[in-house]
Amino acid sequence: MQLRCTARLGNSHARMSTVAAEQPVPSPASPPPPPPQQPLSSATTPTQDAERQQRAKRILQEAVAATAPRHDWTRAEISAIFYQPLMELAFQAANVHRRFHNPSEVQLCTLMNIKTGGCSEDCSYCAQSTRYQKGTGLEAKRVESVESVLEAARIAKENGSTRFCMGAAWRDMRGRKNSLRNIKEMVSGVKGMGMEVCVTLGMIDEQQAKELKEAGLTAYNHNVDTSREFYPSIISTRTYDERLKTLGHVRDAGINVCSGGILGLGESSEDRIGLLHTVATLPSHPESFPVNALVPIKGTPLGDRKPLEFTSMLRTIAAARILMPATIIRIAAGRKTMAEEQQALCFMAGANAIFTGEKMLTTECNGWDEDAAMFGRWGLEPMKSFQKSPVAAGDVAADQA
Ligand code: SF4
Repeated sequence: MQLRCTARLGNSHARMSTVAAEQPVPSPASPPPPPPQQPLSSATTPTQDAERQQRAKRILQEAVAATAPRHDWTRAEISAIFYQPLMELAFQAANVHRRFHNPSEVQLCTLMNIKTGGCSEDCSYCAQSTRYQKGTGLEAKRVESVESVLEAARIAKENGSTRFCMGAAWRDMRGRKNSLRNIKEMVSGVKGMGMEVCVTLGMIDEQQAKELKEAGLTAYNHNVDTSREFYPSIISTRTYDERLKTLGHVRDAGINVCSGGILGLGESSEDRIGLLHTVATLPSHPESFPVNALVPIKGTPLGDRKPLEFTSMLRTIAAARILMPATIIRIAAGRKTMAEEQQALCFMAGANAIFTGEKMLTTECNGWDEDAAMFGRWGLEPMKSFQKSPVAAGDVAADQA
């Protein structure tokens, strides 16, 4: 399962990189970390460097002027956009955001853990893996009852959430017929309340995807987490291609795809570009792209990772907004540690969804009252269920079923 994972990464597998690896938050005495730089060949002359910068500017301008999503991004193009000066990148992302979405609208989503712990996978950031249970002390629980889940959805709706996501700590759904039957009941029940409904249950096959669609599922979350290259440093029990296969089943069943990444695992800037390249070159962009900041959990292999630098979050969100203009970009795990002004900058640069409620899987979440007050201060408003944002042109359906 994926969304929950975001909350709990911290890694011992951190790979060394010469390219702008994650910077620690500076102490008052230390100089600020340098911004990430596009790697240059040592043979680059000042003239070649100027030409490269001109090319990068042109790529950015063309991307910003696009009237429909593109799926043929090269890694070099993504790199040219990603390494723009951050102010310029955020400003241009804000321009794109305003053309494809209503910039005042932010979707409120509540995430409930319907089955906690006991997972056989080894995701290095996750408290729900049985492998780290000794260190985390997290107790595994049975699947929640349909009634308790529907009650939680009702409370979320009363508090203003328009999307309800249910996560279960499983590798996959094989041999879980009874659980799938109950989950379909939960999906139908939540949908019947007029809410968008999302689940994250690990890997699923074609038939399971079809059944979930028939039950009324709006979206399925399955994060790719990071770049293809860095992925094996974080998870060994299933492959990147297996993740993409599940996304294919979800797409083929006509369910919206929610797939994003986790920052702060020890990945380099090049890995963040790799993550963006994976999702932005899928035949259809995910309707939802969650950006998570690792919440290091003691007892997991990544439990001692340093906090993510905020500018890395902003840069990734802004680049994602330009590359996938019609996608809903979700600030996921780690928002609890972000200052309100930092969140506002992310909304300005293209983020338009948050998780809200008391809990986000196994970690703390900003509450409804807190978010309502923030929305009031910044002139934001909750996005309605199944609402399509006004758009500039053609092929830009938003994250709605
Ligand atoms: S260990 Fe299991 S529950 Fe945790 S992120 Fe991995 S698949 Fe999901």
